[in-house]
This record gives sequence, C-alpha cells and structure tokens, in this order.
Amino acid sequence: MVHESHDDDTLHRRGLMLILSSPSGAGKTTIAHKLLAEDDEIAASVSVTTRPMRPGEVEGKDYYFVDKAEFDRMVEANAFYEWAVVFGNCYGTPKAQIRDRLKAGGDVLFDIDWQGTQQLYQKAQADVVRVFILPPSLEELYRRLTGRGTDSPDVIDARMARAQAEISHWDGYDYVVINDDVDGCFEKVREILAAERMKRTRQTGLIDFVRGLMRG
Ligand code: 5GP
Repeated sequence: MVHESHDDDTLHRRGLMLILSSPSGAGKTTIAHKLLAEDDEIAASVSVTTRPMRPGEVEGKDYYFVDKAEFDRMVEANAFYEWAVVFGNCYGTPKAQIRDRLKAGGDVLFDIDWQGTQQLYQKAQADVVRVFILPPSLEELYRRLTGRGTDSPDVIDARMARAQAEISHWDGYDYVVINDDVDGCFEKVREILAAERMKRTRQTGLIDFVRGLMRG
C-alpha cells in the first residue's frame, strides 16, 4: 500500500542547501529573513564569526560571535564545513546539526560568500543550490550601504570596492537574481526553491509512491 510506505521511517525528500550570496548591501539579508519567516521547511545555518557584533544583532541568531583564538580552535577541531576570511574577519559554517537536518528532509539556508560557496559545492554538490543576488546598479548599492548607518565611511568605501570583486564571481552560481524590487526578488528565490525541491533525485520517498501508481 502506498500509504504504508509513507508512514515509515523512509525519507520523503532529502533536504537541500540553499546558498544566498551577494555583495554586501544587495538585499540578501532581507530576502533571507523573509524566507525564514514564511517557510517552515527551511532553517538558517548560523555562522561563527570573529567580527564585532553590530547593533541589533543577536548572539546565536545572526552569528555566534567568538574571538580569533576560539575560531582557530574550531578550525583545528574540524568543526567547520567551510570557513573563509572576509573583510579581514573569519567566518565559518559549523557542522553541528546541518547534516542531521538534511537527512531528516529539512532544508538549510546559507548566507555565505563565494569562497564558502565553492567549498560547500565541492563537498556536497548534489545537495547545493547556489543563488547570487545582484544590486540593480552600483549607485543603488552605495545608497543602500550608506542608508544602513551602521558602518563608518571607510568601511563603506572598502565594501564598495569589494562589491565589484564579489560580483566577478557571479559565474560560480546556478541562479542569478537582480534585486531591483525586494518583493519581486523574494518571489523569484521562492520559485527557485520550489522547483529545486521537486527535483526527482531529491524526492527520495517518491519511488514507493510511483511504484504504487504503476501497479495500479
Ligand atoms: P557580514 O559581516 O556583513 O554579516 O558578512 C560579510 C560577508 O561574510 C557576507 O558576504 C556573508 O555572506 C559572508 N559570510 C557570513 N557567514 C559566512 C560563513 O560562514 N562562511 C563564509 N564563507 N562567508 C560567510
């Protein structure tokens, strides 16, 4: 019986790793927060960083904030899937919980840069979906970085310079979405996620269902 096979412990769908990358200020964080709020099947991977906490950030929600010595200890202990230095600070994706969540069919959202994306892709190609979000223009990017009001002009200038370098890695992604309108961009990311979830190879429980249909 079809229903019996869906009630046991077999996986219905293996979770996917949705990576959202963009230059700082392209709106990726807003998109990520909207997705997490509206979709119960996806949870954020919370990275570990050595960067100082910004106003409004929450320990364990936005990041786990650690000093360099603790970060180095975690690298030594092989605690990261991937890690990279971004704007002079260290960022890493802790392994804990991610593997179990994927096996249980839950999806994981990653807000990591192109270096981390490459590392994750090398390790888990079949599970990874890479989305790059672009700002509509450099002028708009500058406006957004200035408007946020949390960083000094020096930091903003450095990020503008880095933004163009980041954009050069756009060809390392499966999907590219231009964020000229945050709601439209969000819908596109949702459509990507919906389509990727329906991939035959991810619907691991489907085989019993289809066999049932074929038996008639
Ligand atoms: P921010 O300091 O503005 O939160 O993030 C700076 C950059 O670091 C962003 O491009 C973000 O995607 C990236 N980042 C955050 N966490 C990780 C991580 O765990 N690994 C890697 N490789 N990059 C990360």
